[in-house]
Amino acid sequence: MFIAIDAHHHYIRADQANKKAHYYCPGCREKVVLKNGDVKRNHFAHLIDTQCHSFTENESFEHLVGKLAIAASLKSMARFY
Ligand SMILES: [Zn+2]
Repeated sequence: MFIAIDAHHHYIRADQANKKAHYYCPGCREKVVLKNGDVKRNHFAHLIDTQCHSFTENESFEHLVGKLAIAASLKSMARFY
């Protein structure tokens, strides 16, 4: 998965995460770990072999980043109303 939740309940992109922080699956809330090797794009993975099916990402990284940007924009616009 390309997006996880940090200890402050914020959505974090895998390319902006760091290995020292703790992250959680947005679906099942179990702990996930950042994988940032040279072969695959940065991503999060569950620590244990889980049957988590509640959070699937059949969308590309760019699509997910776009959705987060739209959500952030709408959230900032809501402050003015
Ligand atoms: Zn999960």
